Amino acid sequence: MKVIAPLTGHAHVVGLTGSPGVGKSTVTGALVRAYRDKGQRVAVLAVDPSSPFSGGALLGDRVRMQDHATDERVFIRSMASRGHLGGLSWATPQAVRILVAAGFDIVLIETVGVGQAEIEIASLADSAVVVVAPGLGDSIQAAKAGILEIADVFVVNKSDRPGAQEVIRDLRMMLAMATYGSDGWKPPIVSTTAATGEGIADLAAAIDKHRDWLGGNGQLEERRLARAQEEISAIAIGELRQRVGGLPGESRLAELAERVVAGDLDPYSAADELISG
Ligand code: GDP
Repeated sequence: MKVIAPLTGHAHVVGLTGSPGVGKSTVTGALVRAYRDKGQRVAVLAVDPSSPFSGGALLGDRVRMQDHATDERVFIRSMASRGHLGGLSWATPQAVRILVAAGFDIVLIETVGVGQAEIEIASLADSAVVVVAPGLGDSIQAAKAGILEIADVFVVNKSDRPGAQEVIRDLRMMLAMATYGSDGWKPPIVSTTAATGEGIADLAAAIDKHRDWLGGNGQLEERRLARAQEEISAIAIGELRQRVGGLPGESRLAELAERVVAGDLDPYSAADELISG
């Protein structure tokens, strides 16, 4: 991390999230193709235990990514494990950092949407893309999970399926009711059929537009600063937790607990001692 710190890079970090089965991987694969057609170098980080990028599945029947497997300007990595607190793996921000330093133009992070990860992806990515599809009750789910707040771009995938128009209508209605901050970005809704590639060019254009908007008004800098703050505090808290923890019976913590129970020490002073020691 020290070595690559000066290599800040200029990658656009794009997060894709959504419920299992909405077509995130298919959309991601199609986006990779779209970016490659424009001559851009693309990295994909799939933080999803069920992702076809995980493990041997890449060699199995999920062929979408195989198109890119031998393309040296495409890097695909699966990070199957989730963090111990249920969110994104702690290693994900570090992996993103490395890919940015490596000079990729686009870094796509795919996460399966289950509450916490959706919120986290917003802090990890420059642009957050939320994928929904008809038939999964997703638009309703979207409102519940607070997705509306984090989405920079909405994708209604499987537009070839019945119900797609209704999903778009529901999203439009929700967006019309939502109040957006003074930043003035209103998330567009892009309709895609990732399976055939339809609408993917529009999606890439919407993502580009968001990047341009971010860059034009200082939001990009703001988001990256917020991201760095979160990263630093996550690392610091992890270190602290490690220092505070230790094996029961052996640690400084156990010794302090005895003094608290005996009435020799109050828990606040004990905590101070633990942190400073
Ligand atoms: P993920 O779990 O969100 O990553 O979803 P996948 O990309 O694995 O897709 C789930 C299923 O939906 C697969 O069988 C895909 O082939 C299918 N699928 C993906 N995109 C489309 C689409 O645009 N239309 C239709 N009909 N099926 C799709």
